[in-house]
Amino acid sequence: MSEASLWKVAVDAPLPEALTYSSTEPLVRGQLVNVPLGKRKTKGLILGPTNEVPEFKIKAIDSIDNEYAPLPNPFVKWLEWLGSYYLHPIGQVVQSAFPPLKKTEKQRASKRAPVIPQLDSDKLPDLTPEQKTSFEAIAQHQGFSTHLLFGVTGSGKTEVYLRLLDKALKEGKRGLVLVPEISLTPQLIQRFARRFGDKIAALHSQLTDRERTNQWWDVVEGKKSILIGARSALFCPVPDLGIIIVDEEHEPSYKQDEKLKYNGRDAAVMMGKIMNCPVVLGSATPSLETWKNAQEGRYHLHPLKNRVAGRALPDVEVIDLRKQKADDDHQKLMIEKYSHLPYWMSPQLFERMRETLERGDQSALFLNRRGIAQMVVCPACGHTRECPNCDISLTLHAGSHLVCHYCDYHEQMKKKCPDCKEGELEAIGLGTELLETDLTRLFPGKVIARADRDEIQSRADLEDLIARMESGEIDILVGTQMIAKGLDFPKLKLVGLVLADVGFNLPDFRATERSFQLITQMSGRSGRHVKEGESPGLVIIQTFNTEHDSLVFARHHDFEGFATHELNVRAALNYPPVGRLVSFRIQGAHLNKVEETARLLARRAHSLKAQVEKYKAVEVLGPAEAALAKLRGQFRYHLLVKSSQGNLTNSFSRQLLGDQEWVPSGVKIIIDIDPMNLL
Ligand code: ADP
Ligand code: ZN
Repeated sequence: MSEASLWKVAVDAPLPEALTYSSTEPLVRGQLVNVPLGKRKTKGLILGPTNEVPEFKIKAIDSIDNEYAPLPNPFVKWLEWLGSYYLHPIGQVVQSAFPPLKKTEKQRASKRAPVIPQLDSDKLPDLTPEQKTSFEAIAQHQGFSTHLLFGVTGSGKTEVYLRLLDKALKEGKRGLVLVPEISLTPQLIQRFARRFGDKIAALHSQLTDRERTNQWWDVVEGKKSILIGARSALFCPVPDLGIIIVDEEHEPSYKQDEKLKYNGRDAAVMMGKIMNCPVVLGSATPSLETWKNAQEGRYHLHPLKNRVAGRALPDVEVIDLRKQKADDDHQKLMIEKYSHLPYWMSPQLFERMRETLERGDQSALFLNRRGIAQMVVCPACGHTRECPNCDISLTLHAGSHLVCHYCDYHEQMKKKCPDCKEGELEAIGLGTELLETDLTRLFPGKVIARADRDEIQSRADLEDLIARMESGEIDILVGTQMIAKGLDFPKLKLVGLVLADVGFNLPDFRATERSFQLITQMSGRSGRHVKEGESPGLVIIQTFNTEHDSLVFARHHDFEGFATHELNVRAALNYPPVGRLVSFRIQGAHLNKVEETARLLARRAHSLKAQVEKYKAVEVLGPAEAALAKLRGQFRYHLLVKSSQGNLTNSFSRQLLGDQEWVPSGVKIIIDIDPMNLL
């Protein structure tokens, strides 16, 4: 028997470091093995040989998991980067790199449609001059480089991706395409399938574990050469990667909000760097992070300023919802004429909808609020119904049903106020369900469909809705931002944003940026197929804040103006992307314990600053109650760490947390590097 050697193994446990094990077998980095841990058996990934002899007794590796070949070295390097950058246990990071089921498990005949449909191939359109310039500029690059394809909605970014993928395939390489989960529609997959046929694999949340496992092996064994997926597709080790594409790179959903809190876009750029291949980020409304990188020359900028085929961007009209005083007879008449309209519908929007419907075209109304009303209030005592687990008001659904949008708590709405027992509860605010009810009354005989999380709960629901929009069956679509992304309906000529103000005032420094993005994306659904010379699509934005920064720029399709303005605002306060941010959330079931721990964390932060000279530049904010002060029965505090020197925040946070043995039981500290969500 050969002599035992020592190995660093990343084991599936919440440990900050890899552990040392011995083995008499020859092993390589990237190999999955079975190891004992305490009294249990678990999986671990070999990171490499070691000479360090730990203090405790060294255990032996049980066996090699022969199902998997060793992960490629660059891929392991990328996993190690994730663990160290996002301060997440390396052993738990590496578990994501394997499929959910064993390959050998017997395949059951499935009644489900195949993951990738079989379609006849399309014919290649001639690239527009802008598409051609961008394609050629990106295609020049062989090794790592990052590109921002900054193209207005409908400018043909996807066609540029398809050409780049085609080029990579012709060179014998493979491609990875990331899209936000919600945009991973059948429409999109079909578009790729028509171009590349059976070379496509897809990974998204609607797949069964079996489908997921099969897709994973098809990619890893090289049977498929293009993988399209949501952010987690990054964890499938695509061999010979020649290009990585991240569509809608600004989407906050690229950030995973739990466990490993990575940003899929940033992780994709790091992957390109480690695997030495180009990375293309595409968006009509780039994140300020990416925009700054492009402005400062770290990313190559490729603009697509025009929609394809001479199609015009939609006209944007902003309607002030503040009540107009009737000071002459004409205005009095007008107010009379439209007195049947609900308060959320301006005469302008109503008339444009009528015209659009008369022409046989479609309209869509967006409102980022589900339900009938935002909240119920007692007019006598001011009592509002709040969720007992979360610190937010309940939303009224289906007449008398109150729902918490965070934890799904339900209750029946009572008529009498449960607090003062006198007033009768009244619903105030606006939701998609109410819009639908009002529209049915205003446009009798028209087909109205609603798309929000209450109506669309599965991919099948979404497919059904898309088909009904495409066939022209639906006249009016009402929905939340869920349908604002990527969809492309030829007959959709009018988009109305019912209340753009939703979201202006969220307690988050990105609120204005998010509003700008949403307004632009939703507007971008309008008139995508108008022919040259035809009148363009129309967008009507209703608001109580016509002068809000996000609106002033969005109505003129002026992303660059917006970005310059907003970057100045961020710089003044050192907020990202100018500074770097780390958030610590302190949570637990007992308020006083949570408060105490939050204060202790802050004291540790200040003494660390005082002890280490270089940390002078780090700012510590808080602790403060989180905007959602209670969620699912847990009290929440947070502490923010901010600095204009990015590398400082990471090491500072690592030292601040330490071994966490100082954290009292019953309290958890959750760290989020480059957080997207501060609520
Ligand atoms: P984006 O992703 O930039 O919003 P898309 O790639 O969806 O835009 O393109 C918008 C529409 O234009 C699609 O229907 C697409 O098929 C079409 N299209 C793209 N490129 C061309 C081209 N070069 N010639 C004609 N039509 C094109
Ligand atoms: Zn709740």
